[in-house]
Order: sequence, then structure tokens, then C-alpha cells
Amino acid sequence: MTLQIPFDNTFAQLGSGFHAKQRPTPVKEPRLVAFNETLAGILGVTGGETQEMAAVFGGNQLPDGADPLAQIYAGHQFGNFNPQLGDGRALLLGEVMGNDGQRYDIQLKGAGPTAFSRNGDGRAWLGPVLREYVVSEVMHALGIPTTRALAAVETGETIQRERGRPGAVLTRVASSHLRVGTFQFFASRGQTENLKILTEYAIQRHHPDVSGPMGLLRAVRDAQSQLIAAWMSVGFIHGVMNTDNCAISGETIDYGPCAFMDLYHPNTVFSSIDQRGRYAYSNQPDIAVWNLAQLATALIQQLEDPQEAVEEATEIVHAMPALTEQNWLTRFRAKIGLPDEQAADQALITDLLSRMAANQVDFTNGFRALSGAQARAQFTDPAAFDSWEEKWVARRQGEPLPETSMNAANPAFIPRNHQMEAMISAAESGDYDLFNRLNTVLATPFADQPDHKDLQQPPSADQVVQATFCGT
Ligand code: AMP
Ligand code: MG
Repeated sequence: MTLQIPFDNTFAQLGSGFHAKQRPTPVKEPRLVAFNETLAGILGVTGGETQEMAAVFGGNQLPDGADPLAQIYAGHQFGNFNPQLGDGRALLLGEVMGNDGQRYDIQLKGAGPTAFSRNGDGRAWLGPVLREYVVSEVMHALGIPTTRALAAVETGETIQRERGRPGAVLTRVASSHLRVGTFQFFASRGQTENLKILTEYAIQRHHPDVSGPMGLLRAVRDAQSQLIAAWMSVGFIHGVMNTDNCAISGETIDYGPCAFMDLYHPNTVFSSIDQRGRYAYSNQPDIAVWNLAQLATALIQQLEDPQEAVEEATEIVHAMPALTEQNWLTRFRAKIGLPDEQAADQALITDLLSRMAANQVDFTNGFRALSGAQARAQFTDPAAFDSWEEKWVARRQGEPLPETSMNAANPAFIPRNHQMEAMISAAESGDYDLFNRLNTVLATPFADQPDHKDLQQPPSADQVVQATFCGT
């Protein structure tokens, strides 16, 4: 039986101004190293021998119904506007309607050069491909909106960067790849007609219950403020929150030098290219507002009287910090087991966080331990926990802890940086055991899994990962 992907493409119909048609560039020796059966089931992807899947998801064979193209976009990178980015190493094969009623993009990342590659080679390393595979699937398991991973294929080619590394192609699935930067592309060129077409398309696809550019802006704001609060609640740092890496759908997208924190500190940065800490953990809520302001600026260019819309757009953007804070409070109240809302909760939570930072507490293990009796042992000075605990107990008026709901808000397992590094170096020498084990354990991150306690351990001093790289 041959591999069937029930394509139903709409983006390709928007017109040539939105993309450049491009077929994947074949690779030397494609080898399927991961395939997500569960996701394939949702997408209606069926059949196919391993060899055929390697050929299709490595870019050597075009499946029936695919209409491959590189999407155009612009974007602010570290605050500087770049009027022309676009998929430089990714190709949209097309869309499918999932059996959950949701439309999905199927994209190959690392499938060769496109019209937008600039000086890049259009390829991806195995390391970042496996990293994105694991992290995006964990994100999904954590209940956080995200793109997903359908397949990973080793190419049998060496990618030459600072040194030679094995190449790979990731098959990525997203509810779309429309970005803030997609709107910026048309707005910055005064292509008002295409901006209108894109706005209508985004509304139909993601937020069919709203109308007009300001309706879309409001919906994106709401989705992004949920997303950022969710990231904060699991100690996730995206690392490159450029406007071209900010999806209109509210999904986490473009996993590069991202990381989950081990020790809690608000200023944590891992990305080697983020030298000033623009995208540090605690800056993420502000950056999301900044990105929304760029979307607002782009969207109003299509209105008869942009000046008139400025007031409404400003009001929408200015409401975002308070919304994110509400979502953040909801998440963190659940993490510390508060059943209802009180005005002083924010102070109680931030007090805990500052004590955690001062006492070298592991973010994940510190919160997870709250529902048991081991939290104080996580603090270098356990007395710092005790004095906070008194306030916590008083706030709960002696009610017992809702252990089940707390454990559903505080994952036991996250993809720890040092494990991810170990997984990548093993895979580079052909050993996929840790990759497979991480995928299995992290599929149920909230469950206690006594056989895998080693994956809960923070890194020892010599295992700490200081910096992450995007590998482009
Ligand atoms: P990123 O920071 O990975 O989201 O990428 C920013 C821009 O650089 C996007 O337009 C990418 O398509 C492009 N890009 C990244 N890596 C490569 C590569 N190896 N070859 C061509 N384009 C790339
Ligand atoms: Mg990107």
C-alpha cells in the first residue's frame, strides 16, 4: 500500500504574491528515524512502507496532492525590521483536514534551498531536528498550544557549518504557519489588497467568530496571552521571539535555541545569539506585547483611515499585560493549589518565586514537591520555605492540598537540557535509545514514573548546559 496524505490545499490558492513554488531538493540517503503514529492517525495519513515514508518525509518523493511552496514573510529580528525573510529551508507540502475537524499544514523543514534562502543552504542539522521533535511533542503533552512533529528523517548528508554535522528533515504539523511577520511583509510594502486577503484568510482559518482586522488583533492577543502564561508556568524559554516566529494561531512555533529552566531564575537566557537577554524568561510577557503592537501596526494599514483605527488598536494592545497577568495567576494558583481567587495571591506567588531564585530551587522539581512533603528540601536554606509555608497554610485556612489538581499543573518531567544534549550526541552516533525513551516518558509528563527518576534529576555541576544554539 502506498502512503496516502489526504491533501486539501487552500494557502496555495491565495495567489503568487504569497509564496514561491518550490520542490524539495532530494537527499542522498533518506532514513526514517521517527514517525508519530498517533498524529498520523489524526491527520488521516495512512499506508506506506518505511522506505517510502523516508523518501516522502526526506523530500525525495512528492506525495500525491502535495503542492510544495515556500511562504513569504518579513519580521523583526531582535527588534530590527527585515522586510524579506520567508521560508529559507522549509516547504509547505499542503494542508489536510484532521479527523478532529481542524485544518493542518504539513511542512518539511530542512528540505533544501528556496527563493528565500539568502545565503543559507536550506538544510537542518540532525540535532535541532530531534530537539524540535521532542520539545514540540512534550509541549503538546503538557497541554500547551504548539506545532507538532510527524516525522524525522536522516538525510545521509553532512551539513557543513563550523564543523560537519549529520543532516535531517523534520516534518512539522501546524494549525498554520501564518506569522506576525506574514502581515508585516504586505503592510511594509503597501500591498493592501494582499493584506486584506491574508486577514480574511487568517480569520476564516483561526478565528471564524471574529470580524475585521481589529477583531483578528483581539483574537491573536487573547491566544498569545494564554500561550505566554502557559510557557511561564512550565519554565519554558522560547529563545527567539522574533515577530516571524510568532504564530497568529497562538501556537508555539520555530523551536530553535529554546529550553526549559532547571534552576529558577527570572533572568535566565540560554540562546547563544541572545546576548542582551531580550528574550529572557521574565521578558517574554513584555515581548509578546511588543510583537502584538507590530501586528497592530501592520493590520491597520488596510483600513480606509488608519489614524481612526489607532485608538482602538492601542486600546487592544494596552489590555494585553493585564490579560497575561490574569492567565498567569490562574496557572500559578493551580500550581500552588489555591481553590479560589484572592487579591493577595499574586504577592504570595511572587514571594515563593523570589525565595526559589534565592535558594537555587529547580523550577520543575520545586513546584512538583509542593503537593508532597518534600518542598523544603529543595531550598538551600529550608527555613526560607518554612516561613513562606506559614503564609501559604494561612491562605488555605488549613484546607488539605488538592494533590491531584496540583500534580496536573506541575509536571514531573520536562525535557532537561543536559538530557537533550546527551540524546543528540547519542543519535549522532546512531543510538536512538534515549530519543525514544524521552519521547515515551515525556508523553505523560504529569505522571509519576518511578522507573525513570533519573530523568527528573537536575544536571550535576559538570552537566549544566550554559548555552543553546539554533543550528542554522
Ligand atoms: P529562524 O531564526 O530559524 O526562525 O530563521 C530565520 C530566517 O532564516 C527564516 O527566514 C529561515 O527560513 C531562514 N533560515 C534559517 N536557517 C536557514 C538555512 N539553513 N538556510 C536557509 N535559510 C535559513
Ligand atoms: Mg523562524
